[in-house]
Amino acid sequence: MGFDIYEFFAELSRMNIPIRLDAGQPDLPPHPEILETLKREIYNLGYAPSRGLDELRQRIAEIHGVEPREVVVTPGSKAAIAAAIYAARTVGIVAPSWPGYRVAAGFFGRRVSLLKARPEEDWLPDFTLLDKRVDTLVVNYPHNPTGAVLAGDKLRELLDVAEDRGLVLISDEAYRDYTYSGGELVMIDHRFEKTLTVYSFSKTFSLPGLRIAYAVGDPELVDRVHWFVKAAYTSVPIFAQKAALKALELREEVAEKVRAVMLERIRVFKDSLDPGVFEYREPRGAFYTFLRIRTGVRGSELARKLAGRGVGVFPGEAFGKEYADYIRVSLTRPAGELALAAKIMSEVARL
Ligand code: PMP
Repeated sequence: MGFDIYEFFAELSRMNIPIRLDAGQPDLPPHPEILETLKREIYNLGYAPSRGLDELRQRIAEIHGVEPREVVVTPGSKAAIAAAIYAARTVGIVAPSWPGYRVAAGFFGRRVSLLKARPEEDWLPDFTLLDKRVDTLVVNYPHNPTGAVLAGDKLRELLDVAEDRGLVLISDEAYRDYTYSGGELVMIDHRFEKTLTVYSFSKTFSLPGLRIAYAVGDPELVDRVHWFVKAAYTSVPIFAQKAALKALELREEVAEKVRAVMLERIRVFKDSLDPGVFEYREPRGAFYTFLRIRTGVRGSELARKLAGRGVGVFPGEAFGKEYADYIRVSLTRPAGELALAAKIMSEVARL
């Protein structure tokens, strides 16, 4: 599977690294009203209905203009994505990509076909080149690790390919609230048969440990995800679902704040980075920068050296084996620390 970020994450945690820019784990505290809800509901420790609480599914259905039977609440996006990958024969994944898709495909023994995106094309692939064997395509915009967003003609191209070939389309929208340029993939607005859109509470609301997300889409795909929840988890804890309900109430307020914070961080980080050492591209969404190292140092070597200097990052090869000369930096610390980290990175990569 290449570089194992889950192992490296555990190692960095054991080392007590002060500036953690490795995992996609937002550092902003959750909204106090969400924490209040959690405290109040924590005694509610029974099983929940396996599709999710009616009141939560109802609310999600209203937000997206769908029926509650087109909604399922899941223990993190991973559960929904994994269930959809299980049902595939050949999964199309855009490279570079978050490793979770390959972990699921590997576990279920599904064939993976990579569709390459290039930096000079804003990290957007030519969807018409998708391997003909692919029956299920996973897309993730705003994109981890490159910050690419999909809109306009490229979005049309994707939808045309998916429709022409009758693909199952999984749209992983974990970073849906993190867009900086206006253009945005909102699959829910482009729904057709066989799409499954997955939204996570982990990122916008800083709740990754709560393990809650939802999937909306084709009732058959939603049923399959529900089946997986029943088979593997039973249900998502009630306290987590109550917190999610509160989070949806606060979504606009929280999303506006996190966007503003990230925009400032992007600016500060970029200003402190040595352009002679790293090739940098402005992220248009999400909260990552995918940096190409110009000095010949490998990403895995740089990540290890940086850990020794108190900065955690992930090497590019975790996102695909062709990206050995990249690192991914999560902008998950305050601007001052990011400026310091950018200076340390530039210095260490130059040695
Ligand atoms: N999709 C992407 C693209 C991610 O980056 C992550 C987390 N790093 C996830 C899904 C996982 O989200 P969740 O916590 O909802 O399982």
